[in-house]
Amino acid sequence: MDLVSSGSTNQSVESPTSGSSMTNNSTGSGSSTSTPTSSRYENQKRRDWNTFCQYLRNHRPPLSLALCSGSHVLEFLNYLDQFGKTKVHNHPCPFFGIPNPPAPCPCPLRQAWGSLDALIGRLRAAYEENGGRPETNPFGSRSVRIYLRDVRDFQAKSRGVSYEKKRKRPKPKVSATTSSAT
Ligand SMILES: [Zn+2]
Repeated sequence: MDLVSSGSTNQSVESPTSGSSMTNNSTGSGSSTSTPTSSRYENQKRRDWNTFCQYLRNHRPPLSLALCSGSHVLEFLNYLDQFGKTKVHNHPCPFFGIPNPPAPCPCPLRQAWGSLDALIGRLRAAYEENGGRPETNPFGSRSVRIYLRDVRDFQAKSRGVSYEKKRKRPKPKVSATTSSAT
């Protein structure tokens, strides 16, 4: 199913890992459970990785994976925004901060924060699975983390939604006025 491998020029990207991928330290942490990652996730990850590699190939000036930094990842995310389907209101829009706007507006469609966040997670894993070092992983770089946080904060405000991880319902101020003393 890979449409891109017609004449794949391996540009001297030789991974210098000499078979030391399986660290044999049995320190009793016993966490070597082969995680049953759904093949759907794996497929998505491979697709994302191919998309990113294709983006690198089409990059002007040419960009190799080894030279890829966090700022290139941000470039890539901005590039993806044109395919987004999430309405993100800008400041002058009257619907800024309104979850369900009653009318259309000319604000742009973007990638939703949740999609970007998940995408970066998959690419970060794929990068290391393809021989990249964790220390130089551009998907785990500080600039990318900060960018994602900013996107989350802005989209939360713009769309009037909350991305809080804890979905605890906040108690709406327990007013003790309803003590029906009979
Ligand atoms: Zn708008």
